This record gives sequence, C-alpha cells and structure tokens, in this order.
Amino acid sequence: MNLRPADPRITMKLLEGRKDLLGPLAEARRKFYDDQHCIRCGGTAFTRITDSKTMFVPNDPLPRYLLKCRDCECLFDPHSGLLLTMGNLGKAFVPTIPILEGTDD
Ligand SMILES: [Zn+2]
Repeated sequence: MNLRPADPRITMKLLEGRKDLLGPLAEARRKFYDDQHCIRCGGTAFTRITDSKTMFVPNDPLPRYLLKCRDCECLFDPHSGLLLTMGNLGKAFVPTIPILEGTDD
C-alpha cells in the first residue's frame, strides 16, 4: 500500500482556524516509541518498520509501527508485545571473554 501525502499548502489552508486534535496524540505516540526497550536485549535504539497489515487499526487515527532493534535485530510489535523475529542476541552484547585472534607470523 503506497501512501501519498497531500500537498502541505492545501493541507494548511484546509486546517486554518481548526483545533489541533492530532498534535497531542502524535506527541504521546512519539513518547511511547521513545520509552520502548527491546524485549530481548534491553536496547533502546530502534528502526521503525511499517507493515500495511498492522499500520492502521480502527479507532486509532495514527499509524502504528513495528520496532526493529538496532542491537540484536529482533522485530517486535510494541503495542501487542509480540516478538515477530528473534534476531541475534550475539550481536547485542560484547563478550566478557575477549576473542583472541591468532597471528599467522
Ligand atoms: Zn535487542
């Protein structure tokens, strides 16, 4: 599903004099995503993933995103808590025992 935004000039003209109803909701949604922690590694850096099947739900005017952890690369839905892709925990943590690399001298 391709979404094409409306021309901002036309949008602003249509919204003149109207009360901002989506602004506070959008701010609360942004804070919700900022407060998330990875359910596998506890990381806090995410890439938002759009999924047309779950992006819009009834009675919610804002899009919903899936979050992909930048540390362990797992994919989860922060709204339902479902883990969709396991990712790799080995990428998230630095090993406590240093890995020694051999030299071929
Ligand atoms: Zn993670």
